[in-house]
Amino acid sequence: MDVELVSIGDELLLGYTIDTNAAFFARQAAALGIRVVRRATVGDGADEIASGVREALERTGAVITSGGLGPTADDLTKPSIAALFGRGMFLDDSIVESLKARWKARGWPGELPVANHAQAMIPEGATILQNKHGSAPGIWLEDERGRWVAMLPGVPREFRGMTADTLLPRILALGATGTVIRSLTLRTTGIAESAVADLLGPLAKDPLGVSLAYLPGWEGVDLRLTVRDLPLEVATERLAAAEGAVREKVGRWVYGVDEADLSMLVLDALRARAMRIAVAESCTGGMLGMRLTAVPGSSDVVQGGIIAYDNAVKVRDLGVSEATLAAHGAVSEETARAMASGVRTRMGVDVGVSITGVAGPGGGTPEKPVGTFCVAVDVRGEVRSLRTSGVGDRHEIRQRATQAALSLVRKALEG
Ligand code: ATP
Ligand code: MG
Repeated sequence: MDVELVSIGDELLLGYTIDTNAAFFARQAAALGIRVVRRATVGDGADEIASGVREALERTGAVITSGGLGPTADDLTKPSIAALFGRGMFLDDSIVESLKARWKARGWPGELPVANHAQAMIPEGATILQNKHGSAPGIWLEDERGRWVAMLPGVPREFRGMTADTLLPRILALGATGTVIRSLTLRTTGIAESAVADLLGPLAKDPLGVSLAYLPGWEGVDLRLTVRDLPLEVATERLAAAEGAVREKVGRWVYGVDEADLSMLVLDALRARAMRIAVAESCTGGMLGMRLTAVPGSSDVVQGGIIAYDNAVKVRDLGVSEATLAAHGAVSEETARAMASGVRTRMGVDVGVSITGVAGPGGGTPEKPVGTFCVAVDVRGEVRSLRTSGVGDRHEIRQRATQAALSLVRKALEG
């Protein structure tokens, strides 16, 4: 089944609020075979809401709105859509009673404010969608031709809760499609989007009837495989076949599936080998340490680290020789290797990892332009290093360098 979403709110148009409701709905719905075919965002004005919903109704006939159900005068979703359906509004006493009860149960002072009565105004002929997550109920309005609008509150906790426990079951009951949309993301790092496409060859376009999206970011290139409108078993089979085929070509760059986080995988790999790790960071200033320690339970494998930003610290605290710095510079594989070994031995652990680079925006040279970085890892005396470069602003370059260091550790551990 196809549906459209209309997100309502000036704050969404102004960019102060990110429309997480629409993303949440689309993902949940896809898993059930309900496809969001179009999304619109409109302001809080009655006319804007009405025209956005009217167009969606004319096209698809199945519309979900988010927001503007609150108790204040700027919440115009219900009256404007009621007018669109040619329906009046009336005060539903049972809703007033439940709002009053809720007000009391919360121990809030005084009586329910009169403003809240607006939440109990509903269009004639509407069905109330129970809201177990907040005060304003949702509304379902349907016309003679079976075209419908479901209005949900904008507060994300309420929108999510109601989507799961009330709205999706209701939409499914309208016409169970028996088909699903399924996705799987293969996460790669250390390889460019275009290089992935080259390696995939003929698979790059349409791997075995599965659609493939390339999603590049600082963590690497995610490859999202999606199948649509198929019965669950067929979808699962087809996705698995496509995953196998893609892995065959680019498997060595794949570090995980879906939400996999490289720092978590590195910690697991260390833990499995009963190894401890220490970090030495120059241009990333602690970002690598932060990534590793952000994972709960990291203390059993992370020893510590040194932010060796100034060369004096590289020499004094990591034992990098003045000669190495003079001959190759701070941003060099030689220096990175000395940093990794230095932090490993000084902290008395199995693995040392280091990063040194030019994060910019200044400081680049023709030989070592902004974005150049070197990472190294020393696993019990066996050292590997890599010089590469990343695009983006200072923050992104630092993130990319951190990800490259984690990737190098993982490769060194797993061979
Ligand atoms: P309320 O009863 O709180 O007024 P409402 O249905 O009128 O609920 P809004 O006023 O539109 O909802 O939004 C309430 C809160 O939820 C605001 O903080 C808003 O920024 C946030 N919000 C609204 N729409 C979205 C959305 N699509 N995605 C994420 N957050 C949203
Ligand atoms: Mg509101």
